[in-house]
Amino acid sequence: MKRKSATQPDTASYEARRQSAVDELLLLTDTGIDSAFERVTHLVATQLHVPISAFSVVDRDRQCFRWAQGIDIEETPREGSFCGYTILQDDIFIVSNARRHKGFKDNPLVTGETNIAFYAGAPVRTPSGHKIGSLCALDNRPRRLTSGMRQALLDLRGILEALIELLTLSMLDHLTGLYNRRHFDDVIDREWRRACRLRLPVALLTIDIDNFKSYNDTYGHNAGDQCLRKIAETVKTECKRSGDIPFRIGGEEFAVLLTVTDHKQAYAVAMRLHRAIRAMAISHTHSPSKIVSLSIGLAATESLPKDGSGFRDFILCSDEALYAAKHQGRDRVVARRFSVTTGCRAAEPQDC
Ligand code: GH3
Ligand code: MG
Ligand code: MG
Repeated sequence: MKRKSATQPDTASYEARRQSAVDELLLLTDTGIDSAFERVTHLVATQLHVPISAFSVVDRDRQCFRWAQGIDIEETPREGSFCGYTILQDDIFIVSNARRHKGFKDNPLVTGETNIAFYAGAPVRTPSGHKIGSLCALDNRPRRLTSGMRQALLDLRGILEALIELLTLSMLDHLTGLYNRRHFDDVIDREWRRACRLRLPVALLTIDIDNFKSYNDTYGHNAGDQCLRKIAETVKTECKRSGDIPFRIGGEEFAVLLTVTDHKQAYAVAMRLHRAIRAMAISHTHSPSKIVSLSIGLAATESLPKDGSGFRDFILCSDEALYAAKHQGRDRVVARRFSVTTGCRAAEPQDC
């Protein structure tokens, strides 16, 4: 039987959903609270008596060894990778002697400096069932996996999956499923420093539902919750590029961090979102427009500080734009430009 290519997804749509689970994991685990993953890979090495172990995340076109023991490589191409193949199956994938294996004997991981001869990997799934990577054990010598080792690998895979679930839950807002305030604080700090280092534009939308207190007073708290969910769903669908990160940062307040996004693009996203909420036409008899609306403050970078400082001023700049939107009568987008030298200033019409 012809072996399926390691990069061939079951279907394009499965692969797209799998990739968003991978993006989510990489984002969640870039915040320094994932040292437990390291311990799991350490246990794989000791329990299976191998010199190399890893939780390899199978990304779009690479596999990355962010948590690994005994290997210095950070990533290799997904094409032809053992782990890329592991995620195509449900059971543990074992190659006892890669040097004699038809599919892997010419693989650079086998013939090259890494000199892999043995591989055993268990696919790692998210709570929603997407296989995002492999918990694997590798050796430079051919070998067999005993049933005890096999069980140990499955148990450790179970612990890793439970950790991923807990990590995910700790970052999410339970009402809307968006990322929560705590994650916002982590992500914005990290993304700001990254943007400064790579000199990439970044933008922040701070969003507040207009007259929401009177919505609750009129329709009740449950209806208010339902409205928050609907708005969150629309924020999610309108900000769907992989670099767009939506959060619920307060009661009826949301934020969207738009990475690698300049002012014009960010303004277009803000306007699209504003229009999308209006188009939903959620009745709100005690609001001037009779429907639920948003005020949106936008801050976009003009220039960034070299040393990665100043993200709090950037957040304040977006807040200031939101405050101006409220002050000017609500139900609108107000934009600001943020620069390291001049701080926060109103955007010129031609900027938008
Ligand atoms: P503005 O246009 O100035 O933003 O007015 P507002 O009424 O939206 O603002 P205000 O801050 O006075 O009220 C926010 C309201 O949001 C108060 C509270 O009843 C409601 N709220 C906050 N969190 C939740 C929640 O989790 N569920 C529901 N249903 N309502 C919430
Ligand atoms: Mg508010
Ligand atoms: Mg409000």
